[in-house]
Amino acid sequence: MSTNATADQPATHKGTEMSSKLSIALAPGDGIGPEITKACLKVFEAAGVMDHVDFVEVSMGEKEFNAGNSSGIADDAIQAVENLGILYKGPMGTPTGGGGKSINVTLRKAFGAFANLRHFQTLPGVETVYSKAGYDIDFHVVRENVEDTYGGIEHRLLTDVVQNLRLITAPGSDQVHKFAFETARSLGLDKIYCGHKANIMKLTDGMFLNRFHKMGKNYPEIERGEVIVDALCMNMVMYPDRYDMIVLPNLQGDIVSDLAAGLVGGLGFAPSANIGDRIAIFEAVHGTAPDIAGKGIANPTSLLLSGVMMLRHIGLGAIAAKINNALLATLEDGVHTGDVKGEGDPVGTIAFADAIVERMGQTPKSAKAKTWVGDSVTFKPQGTPDEYEMMYAEPEAKIEHVGCDIYLGARKKPSEIAPILESLCEGTPLKLSLISARGTKVWPTGSLYTECVEHHRCRFEQRDESTPVDPKVGIEIMHKAAEHFEIACYIPLKKFNGERGYLLAQGQ
Ligand code: NAD
Repeated sequence: MSTNATADQPATHKGTEMSSKLSIALAPGDGIGPEITKACLKVFEAAGVMDHVDFVEVSMGEKEFNAGNSSGIADDAIQAVENLGILYKGPMGTPTGGGGKSINVTLRKAFGAFANLRHFQTLPGVETVYSKAGYDIDFHVVRENVEDTYGGIEHRLLTDVVQNLRLITAPGSDQVHKFAFETARSLGLDKIYCGHKANIMKLTDGMFLNRFHKMGKNYPEIERGEVIVDALCMNMVMYPDRYDMIVLPNLQGDIVSDLAAGLVGGLGFAPSANIGDRIAIFEAVHGTAPDIAGKGIANPTSLLLSGVMMLRHIGLGAIAAKINNALLATLEDGVHTGDVKGEGDPVGTIAFADAIVERMGQTPKSAKAKTWVGDSVTFKPQGTPDEYEMMYAEPEAKIEHVGCDIYLGARKKPSEIAPILESLCEGTPLKLSLISARGTKVWPTGSLYTECVEHHRCRFEQRDESTPVDPKVGIEIMHKAAEHFEIACYIPLKKFNGERGYLLAQGQ
């Protein structure tokens, strides 16, 4: 136990001095963060966590923003997380307006924490429509954490038009799928579903889904299922005990995991782990709750259950089970904080932690007790790489250029634009094959019911399909088009090993 531990203030220390225990970076966070962190550390202390772990406090959040640090993260905090490999964090506020970005998103992306794992379980004493109906919910959501619309690659292209560049990569998908299958294997699950929208986003979600099946072949004992995300949402509400684990792309995973939190009583009960190859971040899912900050009434369960995930991650499964079971026994006895719909008067944050401490070693009567094993630290920090690590999933494909999409800005009708473009590509290997409005073909034919905006996708394709096109040809056409129109975007059209790498327009 660290020397600064007292009955009220469990062991943490500042700085990164060497210890025989595993050091974990701790950022209590803002708002209710420090209150719920204190409660969790009390429970850890009673469970024996401090015999194996030292928490090293690092500075992130409002304090840093207020000191003019626009990242909200102190430099030595970054270094500590990089060295230690694990961050346990409370919620942190994102400044509204100004340049301050979400610390939470920055941390996940900068540290390559590519998979977000959340565990949703029915908790005794936490009344929900499902608990009343006798449903026992217990499943995991694995969300890709880095790519997708969360890349933050957005542009205003034209007066009326903005775009978000949605990147999905094969190695990025592989990382999250591998994590999902490994986790399912360690939990003894026999089926994983991939949630997706590949029926519409055939290339992006299509790649995510294909990589799921490809990765799954390495885990023959685990059955694979696929489910379209809208149907998934309905199924989760109607049959919440149907799924054991669902893996999803970032945005869909974000929405589905909050939906899942609603099934088990809200965000106050949903723990979250952000896992990368080198760094893992365990955090409460909810925010800083400024409306109740400082009142001593916040619910520490989300952060505590995130801590339970962290203890399992580092090898202390038996202690994690002890804490989980004591928490369930506490809730089962009707002890709860004010945000919980349950019987009896609510207690404060620290009284709730004390009630868990009192029940340490007990198992719940109505809920299934956890029997995780592991009583020594197996986690080893990986250290900082010397250089950026490049990731490739497949041997480089043979690429053939077959045309281009030039996106133009013009307050003109397609029939006025087409003759100008046709004249620009005259005598080149490319011909204007279509113009589409927000993805739907409007030239040379289309439905007059299709409404157009000032953004026109003008597709140029080979006149002679047997001859590949020099990629410069499309760029030269774009240069000439720039004399007549605002250029919004340029995308070359390619085949990869002979397979078309772009979708046809609706109606093409
Ligand atoms: P919030 O989650 O902080 O609060 C929403 C509601 O839930 C409030 O009524 C709050 O009192 C209640 N609540 C939340 N956690 C609770 C708990 N543990 N116990 C009892 N009640 C709880 O969401 P918000 O108000 O939209 O966001 C406040 C701030 O938190 C914002 O700056 C936001 O950016 C930030 N935030 C941070 C994280 C994170 O650090 N991971 C996540 C979400 C929001």
